[in-house]
Amino acid sequence: MPTTTQVKVTKNYVNGAWVDSKGTESQEVINPATGEAIGKVVFSTSAEVDAAVKAARAAFPEWRSTPPVTRARYMFKLKNALEERFEECAKACTTEVGKTLEESRGEVRRAIEVVEVMTGAPTLMKGQSLEDIAAGLDCAVFRQPLGVFAAIAPFNFPFMVPLWSLPAAIAAGNTFIVKPSETVPLSQQLVFEILDELDLPPGVVNLVNGGKDVVNALLAHPGIRGVSFVGSTATAKHVYVEAARHGKRVQSLGGAKNFILVMPDAVLGSTVNALMGSCLGCAGQRCLAGSNIVAVGDIHDALRDGLVEKAKAMKVGNGLDPTVHMGPVSTRAAKERVLRMIELGVKEGAKLVLDGRGVKVPAHPNGFYIGPTIFDEVTPSMTIAKEEIFGPVFNIMRAKDFEEAMAWVEDCPFANAGSIFTSSGKWAREFGYRLPASMCGVNIGVAAPMAYFSFGGSRLSFFGDLKAHGGESIDFYTDRKVISSRWL
Ligand code: NAD
Repeated sequence: MPTTTQVKVTKNYVNGAWVDSKGTESQEVINPATGEAIGKVVFSTSAEVDAAVKAARAAFPEWRSTPPVTRARYMFKLKNALEERFEECAKACTTEVGKTLEESRGEVRRAIEVVEVMTGAPTLMKGQSLEDIAAGLDCAVFRQPLGVFAAIAPFNFPFMVPLWSLPAAIAAGNTFIVKPSETVPLSQQLVFEILDELDLPPGVVNLVNGGKDVVNALLAHPGIRGVSFVGSTATAKHVYVEAARHGKRVQSLGGAKNFILVMPDAVLGSTVNALMGSCLGCAGQRCLAGSNIVAVGDIHDALRDGLVEKAKAMKVGNGLDPTVHMGPVSTRAAKERVLRMIELGVKEGAKLVLDGRGVKVPAHPNGFYIGPTIFDEVTPSMTIAKEEIFGPVFNIMRAKDFEEAMAWVEDCPFANAGSIFTSSGKWAREFGYRLPASMCGVNIGVAAPMAYFSFGGSRLSFFGDLKAHGGESIDFYTDRKVISSRWL
């Protein structure tokens, strides 16, 4: 146990109160920058999951009949409370997941934007109506909340991902349960401290910590009407199948392998800068990270040289240090997995033009650091071109023309995001038209989710139909009731 940091033991938040979990299993929470334990997550029991569902169910009738405008006022309160504790939130995020403070600030800002959009819940909740569908008969469609929803979150955005769904779900009149990633449960302790100060009715929001047993208990629980999942493709598929088997609504966002095409007419300097952010931002641990960079035609050598030069100059270290450009990966296991992927790339014949394996951060010898790593001459059949690496490693591939590059993109079973860098409207249009992924960037490194547009991928990157964010999230969290009336 460290002497410098206070170790925090997670609590659950159920029915408006903090409770110690009775679970007997626990796991240390490690600061990846230092290797120090900063917390302990206690895995909840199925009885604790049941208690959270019961509290959320009991809170539902009154909450659903609370006027939408009153529910929206809680969103204004939540926004203000998050703004007031903005820096504390960003620091909590960096400390448990390792990204730089600037990246955490971006994460907190994006979360607040979701809350901001949901201050408009009364407008977003409005239905439709039509007079005289037959003589004297009117028809109206009302959006109605469904009951209890749950969010199951991944490790890489510990602060933001539960706030992708919680604001929309409760603003629409549902009650909610959050299950954070067991690797990074501390940011949500802080989020619930903030939620606790809003004086929401007890049971509207609940927090249950744990791992896969808690997930499976949520999926099977008859009291839960729907699930918003974000995580790896294997778990996303499992969640989709199990939630559907138990009759729930489900939106399940999975993993990715994102292509970025760089056309010969791309503006080189700004393209290189954007690719740095895309591939190495958050140490590559983003579902929207650029992973396969396809250099089309004769831009290859200049692009490779520009990328290697920029990546070499990046300072790796503790994300709390403002001079650092890239933090560690999240866990020791993640580091070992990424190192295995690098070895595999070398074995499969890719050319390692920048090797980050030997990076040292003298102040933190026990941190989980890997330096920027770039493979060149990667071909589509290599494992590193097909599987998500989820670390600060990316590939350069050579394509003779747009059609060859596009064929690789169209063959990819993942379809989360893709970008093209070009000065040609024709190529940009063609790329947007044919890209199987749902998030498309033109001269943009990360086609990031915006709270007021829908978000989610396709193919193996998304299971479900209604996506996250904006109006579509209100569709997910509500039913549409059609009332036809004739008054005699
Ligand atoms: P993960 O799938 O390992 O874990 C996600 C959640 O599922 C955690 O809460 C975990 O407790 C639970 N879980 C894990 N294994 C389970 C199992 N066998 N049964 C039931 N529940 C299980 O994902 P991760 O490693 O935490 O997150 C990284 C992954 O998430 C990457 O693949 C990344 O691309 C993806 N991701 C996707 C998006 C998106 O928007 N599509 C966003 C962020 C992350």
